[in-house]
Amino acid sequence: MARAGAGAPGGHADGPLPRHADRPLPRHADRPLPGRTMPAPGRTITARGAPRAPVRDAPFPPVRDAPPPPVRRAAPAPLARAAPAPATRAAPAPVRPTASARPTPTPAPRGEQRARSTRPVGAFPDPPPVRSHGPARVLAVCNQKGGVGKTTTAINLGAALAETGRRVLLVDLDPQGALSVGLGINAMELERTVYDLMTSRDAGVHDVRISTEVAGLDLLPANIDLSAADVELVGEVAREHTLARVLAPVLPEYDQVLIDCQPSLGPLTVNALTAAHGVLVPLECEYFALRGVALLMQTIEKVRERLNPGLAVEGILATLYDGRTVHSREVLARVVETFGDQVFATVVQRTVRFPETTVAGEPITTYDSASGGAAAYRQLARELLAR
Ligand code: ADP
Ligand code: MG
Repeated sequence: MARAGAGAPGGHADGPLPRHADRPLPRHADRPLPGRTMPAPGRTITARGAPRAPVRDAPFPPVRDAPPPPVRRAAPAPLARAAPAPATRAAPAPVRPTASARPTPTPAPRGEQRARSTRPVGAFPDPPPVRSHGPARVLAVCNQKGGVGKTTTAINLGAALAETGRRVLLVDLDPQGALSVGLGINAMELERTVYDLMTSRDAGVHDVRISTEVAGLDLLPANIDLSAADVELVGEVAREHTLARVLAPVLPEYDQVLIDCQPSLGPLTVNALTAAHGVLVPLECEYFALRGVALLMQTIEKVRERLNPGLAVEGILATLYDGRTVHSREVLARVVETFGDQVFATVVQRTVRFPETTVAGEPITTYDSASGGAAAYRQLARELLAR
């Protein structure tokens, strides 16, 4: 299978194209939703900081509701490749024109499908080498929906950052322990985990930290014990600050800390948001993508007001994108319309390589270094460092 570049990994190699893959965008893509104005043809994406449409907890209008769509579609545009990037970031391009102004494209041959996105295609410079480390910037990888790519992002973004010479600490804050498993670590056998770190004064972060197979990538592992931490922290003074307090001693040693949150907005996630400088929100390019995001944003806002005034939304990462489907493209367009420049230009495509890496217990950057998935996370690392 020919593998595509960053943001355009191979996707489903096997299996037929979905029936609607070649169908043009339905008309309802241009129809305003209640309370929201859709961009006029040729309009550019809202600039960072400019007012945006409110996030709604509503799914997309079902594709089947759309009237027969016009036979017009945007020409496919490749996302930026991970291959050597130019020294400077490309100037943002305007949003692709809406259906009414689109030429009829030549469909890309199978296996060479590229992501079709309304995002400006960015090329991000290789980050400068680091001579000394720390203090770390802490990012919480957070979305209360499960299966959106939080753990996958923490592992692979962490590994990609480590490849650039950054020292990275991954924190498993999900009692499922998927982050630990995904790095080939059996946390059930470990004497000390994040649970001990958060609930016992005897365990320090240096006792719990372990190194991984990836140079520069360390881990604070977790297992199911962590599910009891919520209850045990109830009586603690300033319990929301527990994680921030226990992480503080190691921050000078690292450049980046990534906290893999559990799929809930409970006390552990509030701890992660309190310890973090920024939140990275993976959002799957699926039907209910925006459902629940309003609640997440409210929680971030509350934590910012009450516990952590410096907390920022670092960015929204579109994951599980399948550029061959109208559906994925529509979802991505809607995410960009709603969040504007907060959405990373890097889009992670759906590819079977990721589930394979979980079984292998290693990041995609080592499991299949030349894959599109590895390229996507390397590009995300560059994009993050260029922000
Ligand atoms: P979360 O941590 O949000 O629950 P995961 O990162 O564990 O989500 O991903 C859920 C499942 O989806 C895992 O089996 C993972 O391997 C798979 N997955 C994640 N990202 C991708 C992707 N880009 N393409 C295909 N599968 C993916
Ligand atoms: Mg997870």
